[in-house]
Amino acid sequence: MSTSSSGTTSSAFVVALDVGGTSMKGGLVSETGAVLLSERRPTPRADGPEAVVTAISDFISHLASAGDGTPRGVGLAVPGLVSESAAIYAANLGWHDVPATNFTTLDIPVMLGHDVRTGGLAESILGAGRGLSDFLFLPIGTGIAGASIIRGEPYGGSSGWAGEIGHTPVFPDGEQCACGQFGCLETYASAASVGRRYSQRAGLEGVKAEQVVTSDDPIAIEVWDEAVEALSLALATYTLLLDPSVIVLGGGLAEAGPALFDPVRTRLVKRLAFREAPPLIPAALGVDAGMLGAALLGWRAAGRPELGPDWTVDVRSAPLVS
Ligand SMILES: [Zn+2]
Repeated sequence: MSTSSSGTTSSAFVVALDVGGTSMKGGLVSETGAVLLSERRPTPRADGPEAVVTAISDFISHLASAGDGTPRGVGLAVPGLVSESAAIYAANLGWHDVPATNFTTLDIPVMLGHDVRTGGLAESILGAGRGLSDFLFLPIGTGIAGASIIRGEPYGGSSGWAGEIGHTPVFPDGEQCACGQFGCLETYASAASVGRRYSQRAGLEGVKAEQVVTSDDPIAIEVWDEAVEALSLALATYTLLLDPSVIVLGGGLAEAGPALFDPVRTRLVKRLAFREAPPLIPAALGVDAGMLGAALLGWRAAGRPELGPDWTVDVRSAPLVS
């Protein structure tokens, strides 16, 4: 790799973009895994489905122009129901059947991936699951969705809906979830739900999950205990069904560290009678998992699926441009 006078590198690169409901994280990633550039923009969701597609296309062109030469491919992590070649359905962005080619005006190959599964792909090849063939990647944030890594690849299921562990019922007569079902894991254990349930019971407004987790207020202890109970039930079911080698917990709530891991581990061990519980370990890539996974997809689009396993990723070394 050589450095040009502009300060960018002249090695081959792809454009990687992780599209979330509120912001998009983009980057340029070389064939050796160097993050040459990393940048964030808001997702203009309020402006409608077409505006988001245009904003993505503009962002890709902008990132591509910062590199030295033409990108070899584009990888895009998007929410909803996704195939490699189309965003089939995304409720929160209003998308129906948007072809991958609509996301860029550049004449380069594009590959799409489901946001959580793309993050799971990155954790599998570059992060906490490196070298492991079967595990669960479970980011716990505003919502809860998982990526089942089966034989080294995120599993999408028969129609792309796999991984919705956040909407598995854990308390059958429980509270109604935003999805319409009752007693979903997400209703009890997402960061948003922990904050909301505590605030409601305590008669307060806008208390954050992290305050609940560390509080010794009896109401906080009760709400957190229910979240831990819900998680241990869902993880016991997952463990018995798919025998993961580890469970990788990520997302905002995983930053609670031992306050999350210790009680969930204890309860999971107690629930399993005839087999050992898989280790619970923290995700390694944090908020960069989606963008790094998108980079792997970009290289797959470029015909280089073998790239990744020997990368040493240090995203903090990338220049962040506003
Ligand atoms: Zn639900």
